[in-house]
Amino acid sequence: MRTAPTILHLDMDAFFAQAEQASKPSLRGKAVVVGGLGPRGVVATASYEARVFGVHSAMPTAQARRLAPNAAYLTPRGAFYRSISEQVMGLLRELSPLVEPLSLDEAFVDLEAGGAAWDSESARRVGERLRADIRAVTGLTGSVGLAASKMLAKIASEQAKPDGLVLIEPGTERALLAPMPVRTLPGIGPATGDHLRRAGITTVEELVEAGEDELVRLLGKAHGHGVYAMALARDDRPVVAERETKSVSVEDTYDIDIHDRLRIGSEVRRLADRCVRRLRRAGLSGRTIVLKVRRYDFSTLTRSETLRGPTDDVAVVQEAAARLLEGVDTTGGVRLLGVGVSGLADYTQEDLFAQVAHAAQETGEADGGDLGVIGGSGDTRGTGGTGTQGEAAAEGGPAERRWHPGHDVRHADYGHGWVQGSGLGRVTVRFETPWSGPGRVRTFRIDDPGLEPAEPLPLVRPAAETEAAAPTAVERGTTPASGVFG
Ligand SMILES: [Mg+2]
Repeated sequence: MRTAPTILHLDMDAFFAQAEQASKPSLRGKAVVVGGLGPRGVVATASYEARVFGVHSAMPTAQARRLAPNAAYLTPRGAFYRSISEQVMGLLRELSPLVEPLSLDEAFVDLEAGGAAWDSESARRVGERLRADIRAVTGLTGSVGLAASKMLAKIASEQAKPDGLVLIEPGTERALLAPMPVRTLPGIGPATGDHLRRAGITTVEELVEAGEDELVRLLGKAHGHGVYAMALARDDRPVVAERETKSVSVEDTYDIDIHDRLRIGSEVRRLADRCVRRLRRAGLSGRTIVLKVRRYDFSTLTRSETLRGPTDDVAVVQEAAARLLEGVDTTGGVRLLGVGVSGLADYTQEDLFAQVAHAAQETGEADGGDLGVIGGSGDTRGTGGTGTQGEAAAEGGPAERRWHPGHDVRHADYGHGWVQGSGLGRVTVRFETPWSGPGRVRTFRIDDPGLEPAEPLPLVRPAAETEAAAPTAVERGTTPASGVFG
């Protein structure tokens, strides 16, 4: 392990929610929840103001609404977040060729490899400058952790949040880790965490006290050794520019085709068990379970199921694989079976990128535009539709326009704004820009000819931009039908 804290971990603070607050002045300092707003939606990010109510990532949005009924609920704007992410990753690549992104807003950087830092002082300097650059370029804050290993750098950035920098001096790691919960360590997911807790081990110190032999007994050979090393702050994992392992899978080919359905089931269970052991050994967890079946006639099928969050739990993977097997016709026999897990995370935590994709799918954004065909909010569905839909059809006009809460629009008379809510044939728009003060709301018919979807504006005012169109909407006291709030 290196002796200088030259591994940097950057994590943007409440990324999606912060980006929304930066682009919508009226939401600054307010509880904001970004996520899927449909009935099965999940929270992607909650602003710090919303976290006070207990709202957190990966929580069902319906539950968030109960905890924070007055928060603003917004549909993710994936393309907008990706454009900010590219700016941030670009700044990181200026520091080193070794940048390992973990998600849209999180990455490891090997500062030594880039010659950017070689000791504590230079590392801290680089970290502070990076934070200032990110602020200047994107208008957003990120937190930086610096340490001699990836594990500690990530822990440091967590401690630095929000809007801070923490550097862990080499030599102090073990004392720092000792009181922390075991789940802090990479490779300890919910299942392993529960397993350890039942054995009376809840802190890193207790892992060390348990000793290597006991951990091997509890967790198996490879995993036990790995966890013990992490507990001692020994983490030699390099920063890799490309994530090499995209999935972990195991498969078996059988000399004689298997026909017995029960036998096939037990083989799949066994493969799932082997796959999870391999996953844990690598300190990984994943969200997508894949089943591969090659049949007697060499036709090969793969079936997959994506879970709400990453797992390293044997039972969860076995159950998913069994469900997938149910949908496969194995009459005639199988000659190969495989089980894999992909969508890997170093740490068992929410995979935000996947969640954005998921939320976007829910709102129809994946179909290419801001105007999906499915309502952005559970509340608008059903109430807003029928009347206008009929009208649009009668006129032979475009299908009914749906306005997603949080998405940008431009009005011919009132300028740039965003959808605050829609329903009952109306859409409520707040006219403001990232560079204006809080704007006013105004309500239109959803088919108002002056209203059209717009591209997001940059969060940092371009130098060329002199006088941005000031919000001109003056209507007060309009009632948002539904949507963003509540
Ligand atoms: Mg983050």
